[in-house]
Amino acid sequence: MIFRQLFDYETWTYTYLLASSEGADAILIDPVLDRVDRYLQLLEELNLNLLKVVDTHVHADHITGMGALRDRTRCITIMGEQSKVNLVSQRVSDGETIAVGDLRLKAIYTPGHTDDSYCFLMDDRVFTGDTLFIRGTGRTDFQNGNAGDQYDSIWHKLLTLPDDTLVFPGHDYKGDTVSTIGEERKFNPRLQVSSREEYIDLMADLKLENPRFMDVAVPANLRIGLSQEDIDQRGWSVEPQLVKPGLEKSTIVLVDLRESSEREAKGIIEPCLHSPYKDLESALGPGGLLNELARTSHKAVVFYCAYGERSAMAVQMSRNLGLENTFHLKGGIAAFQALN
Ligand code: FE
Repeated sequence: MIFRQLFDYETWTYTYLLASSEGADAILIDPVLDRVDRYLQLLEELNLNLLKVVDTHVHADHITGMGALRDRTRCITIMGEQSKVNLVSQRVSDGETIAVGDLRLKAIYTPGHTDDSYCFLMDDRVFTGDTLFIRGTGRTDFQNGNAGDQYDSIWHKLLTLPDDTLVFPGHDYKGDTVSTIGEERKFNPRLQVSSREEYIDLMADLKLENPRFMDVAVPANLRIGLSQEDIDQRGWSVEPQLVKPGLEKSTIVLVDLRESSEREAKGIIEPCLHSPYKDLESALGPGGLLNELARTSHKAVVFYCAYGERSAMAVQMSRNLGLENTFHLKGGIAAFQALN
């Protein structure tokens, strides 16, 4: 396995790069905008294909690299379903698995630091974001933070993991890089309380200053999307209410870009073809199924995904390849289902 812990010294943020082996698909956890060039260089050096990027929560202390990475690599951007970020391409819920090559990350919903905080468990290690730090915990005094929720997340979820589970946090301010669940249970000063009430009181007494970049970072991180508006202006979108008539009159053919797990969880619009986004480049290339379809079909080829983000990138890719008969479903299956 390839595992890299990268550090942004401006904001003391850890970013993690994971892949099953060289040449494989990779995922980045909590990338920082200022470090995007460095990530891309490393990905190239290690011959990795950036497939997915996940943020553990909406950050208040740095601007996320998700949008820039999405624009430069067409990777899939992921956050928890509670997140208010305008455009992420995939949303996970508690217990759901994120697959990248042979790697499996289990999403654990851990509200407290924010109401959209997640931790990600992969075999022997857990990426704790700003929920649990080494000898500390994430503050709970803004962004719908809640100390009681954080107590529940830590005690009822993280501390139920085996003691030797490695803890990789989202930040460290003292120079530590890794700990274990057992070590934190014993030595983390915030975890030495005897009740939920005591933890709430402890967190209320902290009196912290706001993070340096908070006024810039939060609004920027809530608005990383752009492609859908551009695509709309070019006339490449199909409004959700036109899907049913299009299918009935047989003037459109739908292509679902989501992964199988998303299809099972959220359902599909029938009839449709399935062509996962991660293999899109070959499907759209010469000899590819979608290339054939777009060139020979007399129907409009309409991509759809969860929220319209991947499909917006897909229609851009198709048009770049000269496939003019391609469109995307605005707002994805979520917008379609909201109508029906
Ligand atoms: Fe945070």
